[in-house]
Amino acid sequence: MDARLADDLARMPELLENVRARAADLLAGLAERSVAVPPVPAKPLPLPPSGVGLDNAMADFADRWEPGFSGSAGPRYLGFVTGGATPASVAGDWLTSVLDQNAAPGLDSSAPDLERETITWLRELLGIGEEHTGAFVSGATMSNTVGLALAREWLGEQQGISIADAGVGALADVTVLSGTPHSSIYKALSMLGIGRDRLRTIPTLPGREAVDIDALDSALAALPGPAIVVANAGTVNTVDFDDLEAIAALRERHPFWLHVDAAFGAFAALSPAHSHLVAGLTLADSICVDLHKWLNVPYDSAIQLTNRQDLQVRVFQNSAAYLGLPAATPDFVHLTPENSRRLRALPAWFTLRAYGREGHRSIVERNIAQAQRLGDAISVSPRWRLLAPVRLNVVCFTLANNPTKPAIDKVTQDLTAAGTTFLTPTVYAGTPALRAAFSNWRTTDADVERIAKEINAGDRHLSGNDQP
Ligand SMILES: *Cc1c(COP(=O)(O)O)cnc(C)c1O
Repeated sequence: MDARLADDLARMPELLENVRARAADLLAGLAERSVAVPPVPAKPLPLPPSGVGLDNAMADFADRWEPGFSGSAGPRYLGFVTGGATPASVAGDWLTSVLDQNAAPGLDSSAPDLERETITWLRELLGIGEEHTGAFVSGATMSNTVGLALAREWLGEQQGISIADAGVGALADVTVLSGTPHSSIYKALSMLGIGRDRLRTIPTLPGREAVDIDALDSALAALPGPAIVVANAGTVNTVDFDDLEAIAALRERHPFWLHVDAAFGAFAALSPAHSHLVAGLTLADSICVDLHKWLNVPYDSAIQLTNRQDLQVRVFQNSAAYLGLPAATPDFVHLTPENSRRLRALPAWFTLRAYGREGHRSIVERNIAQAQRLGDAISVSPRWRLLAPVRLNVVCFTLANNPTKPAIDKVTQDLTAAGTTFLTPTVYAGTPALRAAFSNWRTTDADVERIAKEINAGDRHLSGNDQP
């Protein structure tokens, strides 16, 4: 054994104790860590011919790289929809690495059964019915990709062929219909050989991002054959929701596969006052839910769910002499794009076991109330204009007097430089704007006050740019 490796093995308890202490320090400082740091990469070093051991590697990381890492897991990072990591989920993530299970085959470990238990818990948490089975994947993009792969296989089934065997070239014209799809839907269509151009956007309701059901009905009626409909349960700009029950009801008249992208919107189910927004989610043929967003587990983690596991096995089966054929309860190796795979379920299992439905409901309800409070502050500020009502956990707003890209970019840069809060710029209905997305378990009311103050600190940040 390499001498450094042997030395680290001999000192493992002490070395890991040092890592634990460092982790505790980092977490203790997270709330005040700069939310975003302008990337200044360290000068690349050549590959070390002989190593320095774990202690020295830690010191080098702390010196050269760690200062450039953002406080994105902290309470005032409102960019994208980011979430943090609960204490129990961090513990679960550590132990995932410690035990290093390969949750692909079911031959040698009960790890895959823990994944199944976690999927069942998540189904219950989100009000999704027992007819859906699921698996962990790396994120919502991969979940959307798996869902649309099943849709593709279903289209083949309508033609009496298997696309998994015959290839996508055997498929008659494919049409994908959606109101306000996330960018990852286009990426998934590209990866699946369906093609980005096959997505046709359907008009939305006036002043909304939710699809116009009558327009969708007409578009489906005009198609020569079965289609794919991507419904959106929580758009990223204004968290608008398609009417899932009304869309599902259209299947009585038109044949289509219903995929729902509920990456973070699915968590509306935890709030009794908002659960109506996801009514009908369980009627979907495939569902995408991200966990590294609102469940507050570390990257990377999402689930995909479907009521057609048979199609999933057709697409993803990986039969080999040593793996066996898919059984009644197929191993995950036959269900997901990966073969070997991390036990991603463990951090989610830990947080659900530690905090339960009530703990996670309180994260969601607090974040919704916080978004509402910031929305109220913005709606009375002369500097800003809300672009949409705060429906859930995102505030979408722009400069009242100068809603232009240069002015919004300047605000974003100034806020990022100040380091207190991080927002991402967007364009909503043609208007350059900002989004503030609440999804972190650590965020407090005091944080919201600080954020509101920072955003309204126009005079300090303006440099005259957003004046009329
Ligand atoms: C974040 C998001 C995605 C993509 O998620 P990743 O985890 O980044 O792959 C897809 N759809 C919606 C609605 C999202 O919010």
